[in-house]
Amino acid sequence: MSTLQHTSLAEVEQIYTRLQRTFKDGTTRPIAYRRKQLLQLARMFQENAAAIEQAEYTDLGKPKQEVAIAETSGVIESALFAAEHLEEWSRPEKVQVEEWRSSWDTTVYKTPKGVALIISPWNYPFILTFNPLVGAIAAGCPTVLKPSEVVPTCAALIASLVPKYLDSEAYAVVNGAVTETTALLDKPWGHIFFTGGGKIGKIIATKAAQTLTPVTLELGGKSPVVIDEDCDLQLAARRILYGKTQNSGQLCVSPDHVYVPRHLVADFKEAVKVAYSTFFPSETALHPNSHWGNIVNPSHHSRVKGLLDRTLGEILVGGQVDGAKRIAPTVVTGVKPDDSLMEEEIFGPILPILEVENLDETIKLISNGSSPLVIYAFTNNEETKEKLLNRTTSGSLVFNDTTIQLAVHEMPFGGHGESGYGAYYDKNSFDTFTHKRSSINVPAAAEAMFGARYRPYSEEKYAL
Ligand code: NAD
Repeated sequence: MSTLQHTSLAEVEQIYTRLQRTFKDGTTRPIAYRRKQLLQLARMFQENAAAIEQAEYTDLGKPKQEVAIAETSGVIESALFAAEHLEEWSRPEKVQVEEWRSSWDTTVYKTPKGVALIISPWNYPFILTFNPLVGAIAAGCPTVLKPSEVVPTCAALIASLVPKYLDSEAYAVVNGAVTETTALLDKPWGHIFFTGGGKIGKIIATKAAQTLTPVTLELGGKSPVVIDEDCDLQLAARRILYGKTQNSGQLCVSPDHVYVPRHLVADFKEAVKVAYSTFFPSETALHPNSHWGNIVNPSHHSRVKGLLDRTLGEILVGGQVDGAKRIAPTVVTGVKPDDSLMEEEIFGPILPILEVENLDETIKLISNGSSPLVIYAFTNNEETKEKLLNRTTSGSLVFNDTTIQLAVHEMPFGGHGESGYGAYYDKNSFDTFTHKRSSINVPAAAEAMFGARYRPYSEEKYAL
């Protein structure tokens, strides 16, 4: 693994000054400029897809199919979509006002918030850096990108590609860890967009409060899966296992654990075994032909392995551990709510199954925890859907599939409660980086209506 060259603190200062100047110049405001940068971003991904796949393989052992589907094509699509809709999104809006003010000019202008800062995590290093950037470019914000130092090959590639494709006066990469990020956070920004864990999210929000910088926090959490009586268990097992095995479980919307009604547990276990054997026909998922990626580094590996070592549940499938790199997808049954696997977001390829009496018990268990990024439920029953909608909270609620919300980019994507605040994708991204600036022009003719507001005050004017 390569060593990442950190940006010097002197250079951080220069970048900040340069981007502030660019913002004040108005360079990033014309629609034609923004469109060009968005098209350049799409081109950057089209022309460098192979290098991006290779970098992710080096840092994460991620199969190239997963990079192509989940990252490269996602960024290209959202950049092109924004380029196409930019004009419509940024159009000033005439606001309908009360009759007596109707002759005034009351317009809301969509103005860029200022220079933006995007801080991203290691698990999907490209899409989680560049999809927010699409929103920032579309809104007209110059932007500093701070990729994760945990994936040094990807972070170095980002730093080398950005200046080749985007305007360096407006878009820059700062590489580094806590020191460099803290230097960035000492400064005021138009907006900070952070994706990562809740612990660091609190640091970001606290620092941002000192400069009154608005923040979006895209965090994680334990996203549960609910199995209802009225569902196709084979389909559910297949779709849950699909979601859990993306990037070896290192996905913010990975199905974290599954609640299954007691009388369905035996059938669900069988369904999981069938799905597992079709996904991993070799004896073990760690077989070289299995296209099975790494846990990002030894410290994360030992954290995930530690959760597995301490579980009191029983391994249904998987369980193999390979040095300090890989852990096979592992389904654990008979897990209790106080088990090691329920202590924190697993963020690895372990899927605990918890037995429950019924839906009410599941809802109680979910509601006792913090608000997850997503709740998945496999059900065809409308009453079950209603109950989940009305008696739980979460960033999203997805029925009969997992992780698919990432592809439905027309809808806002974001957390709730401890899984974060703010949302993005398509126009929601544009809105995140946009200030709605109300502009009012009051014509001289309005003076006739203002008699009562001017001094001297009198009882007659008060009565008007
Ligand atoms: P992280 O919070 O450790 O790091 C994210 C970023 O914060 C990195 O760029 C890192 O350099 C920076 N950082 C680390 N320590 C810092 C500090 N003390 N001060 C300032 N910045 C600091 O997150 P991670 O481990 O890279 O990612 C995993 C977490 O991210 C999981 O909880 C996952 O659920 C969450 N996540 C959420 C989403 C989402 O869209 N909601 C997407 C991916 C990951």
